[in-house]
This record gives sequence, structure tokens and C-alpha cells, in this order.
Amino acid sequence: MSEIARKFISEADTLRRGAELMNSGVGGIILVLDEDGCMIGTLTDGDLRRAVLAGADLDDPIGPHANRKFTFATAGESRQQMLSKLNDVIRHLPVLKDGRPVDLLSWKDLWWLPVAEPNLAGNELKYVADCVNTSWISSQGSYVVQFEKMFADFVAVEHALTTSSGTTALQLAMAALGIGPGDEVIVPAVTFGATANAAIQVNARPVFVDVDAVGCLCPEAFADAVTERTKAVVPVHLFGHACDMDRIGSIAKERGILVIEDCAEALGAHWNGRPVGSFGDAAAFSFFANKIITTGEGGMVVCPDPELADRMRLLRDHGMQRDRRYWHLEPGFNFRMTNIQAAIGVAQMEQVDTFLAHRRALASVYENALRDVPGVELPQGHAGSESVPWLFLILVDASTRDRLITALKAVGVDTRAVFPSLHVQPAFGSEVPGRLPTAELFSDRGLCLPLSNRMTVAEVERTVSSLRDELKKMSET
Ligand SMILES: *Cc1c(COP(=O)(O)O)cnc(C)c1O
Repeated sequence: MSEIARKFISEADTLRRGAELMNSGVGGIILVLDEDGCMIGTLTDGDLRRAVLAGADLDDPIGPHANRKFTFATAGESRQQMLSKLNDVIRHLPVLKDGRPVDLLSWKDLWWLPVAEPNLAGNELKYVADCVNTSWISSQGSYVVQFEKMFADFVAVEHALTTSSGTTALQLAMAALGIGPGDEVIVPAVTFGATANAAIQVNARPVFVDVDAVGCLCPEAFADAVTERTKAVVPVHLFGHACDMDRIGSIAKERGILVIEDCAEALGAHWNGRPVGSFGDAAAFSFFANKIITTGEGGMVVCPDPELADRMRLLRDHGMQRDRRYWHLEPGFNFRMTNIQAAIGVAQMEQVDTFLAHRRALASVYENALRDVPGVELPQGHAGSESVPWLFLILVDASTRDRLITALKAVGVDTRAVFPSLHVQPAFGSEVPGRLPTAELFSDRGLCLPLSNRMTVAEVERTVSSLRDELKKMSET
């Protein structure tokens, strides 16, 4: 018998049978069905108690005592819709298909806080509908132009080019800057693998260096790793903390090394009052669904140099000459963004200031609530960094981190481990751990708590109280 069918009882059955059923361990609520198997009501242990106290006989049929005004969901409703039907009084939600119960859900079954969720409540749908209605759905169209313009203004850089992803934005910059075979690209060991993949895809070699106490590229480690083959460095503004662009910039300038900023997690962050993305020879942003703004998939590459922008535009579009159709000046890529994605991007940019303020507000709720929790460390950005909270990063004990992730998942809170350090991974180096201690510390101890443009303060508070509970349980065992 299926789990739910154990809770079924016929309306013709007696209250006594109902009491026996509840007593057999199926829980304090059973579902009352008519002779066709359709649900006509619920019966809780409270209903039963009240019926008996009101003088009902245990041999009376259940039918008249069932609660017929019950709240239910229909199979196919979204989790969000179902969740909205539950409250302090209604704690169980029967799910019906053609009138027959197929599930009985509680808040615990439905509550699920994703580590990040996009907020698409602005003009996204309107602008996408516009693309569909006008048939401008491919990579030409006014939203692409508008998105690039808005973005360049926001980051305070002359040129901005949309791309198909943050990864292709990095790769396009590297290719256009002439990074290729024989070149070394210095990359922090803690970052998403895309940073290193981009270098490998242009046939250069990523050289992994250690990060500093906030997870950003360590300037000394960068300086120490420079060789005569070093062509570029990729400071990654990890978790929305700006890297020390003064020191990284001056080392790079002195040694003649190109700087490509990876701003995938840091749109809106500043270093000493200047937006990240405005320091490098080029900078890449990502609009994957969990980033500061999203276009589903998508990216942007920005640069101050008009010639570089032209070369990137050429390579983005198959290396084809702009005014001579099907005439290829050099081998290129198709890294274009669609007008549909850009339409979402424009709508997101309209809200970016609100998003950033919201993220900062959520982060300060986290900070205040977690400051004094034993076993939790909160890495703070450098003095010069006006950070933008991406996922909310904390450091916990390495021996409990993964157990904590599992325990939080069981209570409906989705979290992530920080990226495992790249230098020990099969794709990138397969080194024995030990060479890059701070990177390894981050990888072993870093835990990302949920944070996104749609999250509420109440959800932050729930996350914190779940985290406290689980940490307490672990310290007791
Ligand atoms: C997300 C991310 C990328 C890649 O962006 P995609 O749009 O997913 O290709 C690159 N670097 C970092 C640090 C990221 O977090």
C-alpha cells in the first residue's frame, strides 16, 4: 500500500475505526473518502476528540464528523502555490487528482530555500514579449544595443559587448588580447573553473596562485608567480569582494602584464570608489541565474580601448568583416547574446540599484545575526573594497562543513561549498594539496548561504536559525 493510501478511510467507517487508524502510527490526520474514492474531508485527532466530547458514539459513521471545508491543492500546482496555502492553522495539504488524493504535504515537504533565485518581477516579461511580438529574437535588435549602453554607463567603461556567457566573455577578451600558445595566465586557485577554462581554451596555460584572507587574488603571490611567459593576470572579485586593484595593477604595469578582471560575482562592487571592471585591460561579467543580475545565460565584456572593442566584436561574430558579408578576416567564434536575453538584461539593469541595496540589507541581517555564533567566521572585504554581497560566505570548521550542508538540506535550506581549489582538480593540475594554503582553507571551510535578489529578511532569519540549530546539534555530539 502506498504511504498516502494508509491514511484513507471511508466515510461509512466508524469513528472507532478512525481512532484505531490514527493510533496505528499514520499520524494525526486521515483522509475521508466517498465510495468512489474521492476525498470528501479530513479527520484529525482533534476533530475526533471534539466529536466524542460532544456526545458522538464511537460506532457512529465518520461522514458527518469529517471536516468538509478542507484546503487542498490540485496536482500540477507549483510548489510556491502549494506553500502559500499553508499557515499556522493549515499544516497539511492534500493534493487531489480528479478528486482523488494522491499526496498529503506539510510545510516541511514544500519549504525549500534555493541558494539563489532570480528576481524577474520587473519589465522582463514585457520586453521579452516585445521581442516575440516583433520577431527580433536573434542577436540583432534594439535590446542588445540598449543593454550594452546601460551596462557601459553603470560600470563606467567606454565599451561593453554582450556575450553568450561569462565564460565566453573571458575567452573573447583573452583571444582578442592575443593570449595564446606558450603564454601563462595567472589565476587565483579559488574561483569557478570557468576562469581557468577560458585560458585553456585559447591554448594558454593557467598558473594557479594563492588567495588572500577574503578569497581574492593575493598580490604577493601574483608577483612571485610571474615568469617571462606570463602574459596576463585574472583578478577574480570573488564573492563580491574587490581585489586590491592598486597593488595588482602596479605589479602588472611594472612587468608589462595584461589585466583581465573576472567580475562575474561582483557587479556593483567598487575598489577605492571606482567600479570593478573599470581597472583592467578588459573585464568579464556573468549573467547566469545566480549572479547579481541575470539574463538566464549570458555575459558582458568591457574595455576602455576602442581597437580592442572592435577586435572583440569581430571575433564574437565569426571573424566576419562587418560591411562585407561572409568575408572572414580571421577565424572567430559565435559568442553572441540574443535580443531576448538582452531584453531581460535591460529589465534587470532597470532594477540593479534596488537589487544591490536589497543584497546589502540582507547581508547586514546575516552579519548581525551570525557575528557571535561560535564556530562561524565572517570574512570581511579589504578596507578599499565596497563589496557587493553575492552568495553569503561564511567559514566553518572543515570537519563539519559537509555534514552541515546535508543537515541544512534536510531542513529545506540549500547551501553550497566554496569551489574546490582548482590546482588539485584533474582538469587543471591534479596537484597534491598543500602548496596553496589559503586557497585550500577556503575550499575546505567555505560555506555559501542563500542570498539573492528575491530572498526576504524572514528567509535570512530562518536560514540563520536553522544554521544555529544544526551547529548546536553538532557541537553536542
Ligand atoms: C559564474 C562565473 C563565471 C562564468 O560565468 P558563466 O556565465 O556561467 O559562463 C566565471 N567566473 C566566476 C568567478 C563565476 O562565478
